[in-house]
Amino acid sequence: MPVRKLYKSLRAKLNTKQRSALSKLVFSISGKPFVYAQNQAIYKGFPQQQRGGFIISADFEMAWAFRYSKRKVDPLAMAQLERENIPELLKLFERYNIPITWATVGHLMLESCKKGDHDWMQRLPYVDDHWKYTSGDWFDADPYTDYKADNAWYAPDMLELILQSPVKHEIGCHTFSHIDCLDRNCPPQVLDDEIVACKNAAKAWDIELKSFVFPGGTAGNYPILNKHGFQIYRKNVDHDLAYPYPDEYGMLITPSTSAFGRIHDWSADYYIYRFKTMLDKAVKTNTVAHIWLHPSVDKWTIAEVMPEVLRYASDLREAGKLWIGTMGDIANHINGGE
Ligand SMILES: [Zn+2]
Ligand SMILES: [Zn+2]
Repeated sequence: MPVRKLYKSLRAKLNTKQRSALSKLVFSISGKPFVYAQNQAIYKGFPQQQRGGFIISADFEMAWAFRYSKRKVDPLAMAQLERENIPELLKLFERYNIPITWATVGHLMLESCKKGDHDWMQRLPYVDDHWKYTSGDWFDADPYTDYKADNAWYAPDMLELILQSPVKHEIGCHTFSHIDCLDRNCPPQVLDDEIVACKNAAKAWDIELKSFVFPGGTAGNYPILNKHGFQIYRKNVDHDLAYPYPDEYGMLITPSTSAFGRIHDWSADYYIYRFKTMLDKAVKTNTVAHIWLHPSVDKWTIAEVMPEVLRYASDLREAGKLWIGTMGDIANHINGGE
């Protein structure tokens, strides 16, 4: 897509302020958010005949996501931020009765582990791509203790909070140790082992994993997901809004529309305006707006942006226009489940 290329190379030359302004401009004149061209052909409606849908997913990952990050972030600090935010986020979702999909790093489901526990798993080969992992062992950061000693690497207490919420959230899969899933970086057996480890950990919680989110957007190894019975995954694609549509294996793709989080110097009102525009367009075009977040999201977004967006969504739901649910819910609906 040449226009996209041009945009990318132009964007790379700009400073932060100019980028923020360019994003605003593109949003207002380009017709963004873009709708999947084949949408009407695959449309199977929403559970209560609403006209559009809204899915939120949160990548529940604590320190695991950041240990090989090329950005200089402290994994332990990110984990603590996530620990502070999760109870706040749960309150917010409860206030507006919004169930979301928590794409969970499997290791967080463990209360403890010890050296040798993960030795059966094939390791990701060294990689310098989205992440930089070029020496040592993939599990070197694992403290091999328990959640009381090292709560950045285990989070059964947080998982329990999520499961105890009166809102029926979904626990999805974000691999066991936040690996790169790209075909060029990840041998199939590595993802296979990661998913088996997730399933073993989930079994102890009586959780069935049906929905998948690729760490760092590293989408690949689809046959492995299919083999393990995943029904739907989130993916970054060229369009922003789509009713979930099948891939070549019959698994459903739900494109990510946008993310919560302050990356530009925009006002809360402008952020809110963008998210409302996405929801309105989802209703208008029979598509799903899928907004994701890191639970370590900045507190400004949680306090100033999310409440108004969730209130707006729940009003649209009250009016019978917007369906709100999890990735698993919409997969069930489309696949003719309950
Ligand atoms: Zn471990
Ligand atoms: Zn992640």
